[in-house]
Amino acid sequence: MASAIHPSVDRGIQKGAENFTGGTLRCQCAHDPVEVRIDSQVLFNHACGCTKCWKPPGALFSVVGVVPRDKLTVTAREEKLKIVDDKAVIQRHGCTACGTHLYGRIENKDHAFYGLDFIHTELSGEAGWDGPGFAAFVSSIIESGTPPSAMADVRQALRDKGLEPYDCLSPTLMDILATQAAKAKGTYREA
Ligand SMILES: [Zn+2]
Ligand SMILES: [Zn+2]
Repeated sequence: MASAIHPSVDRGIQKGAENFTGGTLRCQCAHDPVEVRIDSQVLFNHACGCTKCWKPPGALFSVVGVVPRDKLTVTAREEKLKIVDDKAVIQRHGCTACGTHLYGRIENKDHAFYGLDFIHTELSGEAGWDGPGFAAFVSSIIESGTPPSAMADVRQALRDKGLEPYDCLSPTLMDILATQAAKAKGTYREA
């Protein structure tokens, strides 16, 4: 029996609906939830095995994607939000009552992903979000307690769901990061 990857993967990955314009994320507080409106489809949605992204109980991976930060608005109970770790590159804003992360933000203007906020679309009741397209930081689930001997099965389970497993980010995103680094170093060259 393969481990649960994530509810939105285990149930079958949904493709994004055409002309989908976003929805409202809510934390898991039964009363007075934090609400965050997203006026965009999610981009680069993926399963993430790192130890910092929020994941639902029992899931091996989080599912996280990005939206332009100007498409994200906290619309209710902002006072319940607090940055989980202000030393992390991605500052994850979590609910102090239920622990759910509502969004992650990069404040370093030199970072390749500056301007993009990280969100978990499962926190929205709307259907139409684009499901995850790959799996990142897969080996990192060992750090949250998965035995190394289980990794071959986990990678196979991901592939069976159509998620190519990577131990960092996907090649496209790694190329974006390296391009930024090359520009910073002055070694960037056009083809
Ligand atoms: Zn909450
Ligand atoms: Zn992560």
